[in-house]
Amino acid sequence: MSTPYWVAGRPVTSDDVVEVRSPHDGALAGTTSQATAADVERAVAAADAVAAEFALTPAHVRAAALDHVSRRLAERITEVAALISAESGKPVKWATVEVNRAIATFRWAAEEARRFSGELQRLDTEPASDGRLALVRRVSRGPVLGIAPFNFPLNLVAHKVAPALAVGAPIIVKPAPATPLISLLLGELLAETDLPEGSWSVLPVPNEVASELVADPRLPVVSFTGSGPVGFAILERVPRKHVTLELGGNAAVVVAPDWSDLDWAAERIATFSMYQAGQSCISVQRVFVHRDVYQRVADAVVENVRKLGLGEPSDPATDVGPLINEAAARRVETWVREAVDAGATLLTGGTRDGATVTPTVLADVPAGCKVVDEEVFGPVVVLDVVDSVEEAFGKVNSSRFGLQAGLFTHDVRLAFKASARLEVGGVIVGDVPSFRADQMPYGGVKESGIGREGVRSAMADLTEEKVLVLTGL
Ligand code: NAD
Repeated sequence: MSTPYWVAGRPVTSDDVVEVRSPHDGALAGTTSQATAADVERAVAAADAVAAEFALTPAHVRAAALDHVSRRLAERITEVAALISAESGKPVKWATVEVNRAIATFRWAAEEARRFSGELQRLDTEPASDGRLALVRRVSRGPVLGIAPFNFPLNLVAHKVAPALAVGAPIIVKPAPATPLISLLLGELLAETDLPEGSWSVLPVPNEVASELVADPRLPVVSFTGSGPVGFAILERVPRKHVTLELGGNAAVVVAPDWSDLDWAAERIATFSMYQAGQSCISVQRVFVHRDVYQRVADAVVENVRKLGLGEPSDPATDVGPLINEAAARRVETWVREAVDAGATLLTGGTRDGATVTPTVLADVPAGCKVVDEEVFGPVVVLDVVDSVEEAFGKVNSSRFGLQAGLFTHDVRLAFKASARLEVGGVIVGDVPSFRADQMPYGGVKESGIGREGVRSAMADLTEEKVLVLTGL
């Protein structure tokens, strides 16, 4: 049976059936259908119609709905993880991590919904505003269009849905074409709540329809996670809308010479350059290691990478699965070949079978190669030797991206220096850049994006300050 999509909280199917297949072996993960033009219009009109009322729903109603979704995801975790794995090819081990994160994202949004308010600001700091007081509240900017990528098909949708519902903003979710099923399952859980009709819809639509939705004036907020070219094109198209862009990166990690546990650093680098087959915006791509410890780290990274289990995504022992499709794997293969042809040393990997690329470690990569300059979004890591931490910081900053960076050091002064100097949205000290806690502010600078997600930051982003000034006090 075709999985329904969701229009203003109601399940609907159309004749435009879509089969969703695993990139691993082409097995059918499920079928759904694309939303019709009439359904898209109904969803947008309903979001527009309910916006004012939804913004005024009591916080406990919104919090209860968010808690419900969190609880239900926890109850169905095995099934949910299996579905993510089936449609995206993500190893079930990592899909389970993703579901656990989504559980926390909804739970955290419920908590924030309960305490989210504003502030009282005194205005008697200047003679001209003596006797006045301001109440600064945060109010919804209005209906949100949430556009999601394929690589975390549940948790990145959760990062659109949960903060929007927490602030009382209606949301229309546009899932990635490769991975619609999991957000349709999320719709099932939302449909079990008392959220008002029209406050949420999940619409699988082609990109041309998504593009029309971007321009629809009834959706004043666009929250986009995906690639830079698509994100920046959206911004150009609707410069007057409130647009948040969570885009790509080529995350770097620096290993300083003082770091004591080199084996652990190497294990983390190996794991988080290859997890999700490198399809994470904060996957470790560039590694800068001080010369004093370079060889030990390089050897241990290669050893750990070779140990990673490739194979059947549904097998809990599998570490690395396929990329989202064969075209993506071919692109990665070509980029690795370009580096090797230019003189890079291939330390391990570099082969492809269908949509699967073997975990690949490169060293001595000449400047100008795509595996360094672009976002690989595949299981490839590039090792580089540096003579000082300053040199490493310069190399980290030489990228046009700036999402997160990692720094292995015990030196707290160096940690502060990194935070001040590195052109990124976040620095992770003592670990790889791939660490993300869903409540912390998350986002990039330069071409990695505009604005911040993370439940509380997204709630601030989806609202604006409204001032009530009281006079004569
Ligand atoms: P993509 O840009 O191809 O697609 C993202 C979404 O945009 C999809 O739902 C797609 O259907 C939609 N889309 C495409 N064209 C559109 C248009 N013209 N109008 C409206 N919507 C349109 O990205 P992807 O391949 O799904 O995801 C991978 C990218 O996402 C990588 O660059 C990755 O780094 C980035 N990403 C960023 C973050 C972050 O938080 N910064 C997180 C995950 C992924």
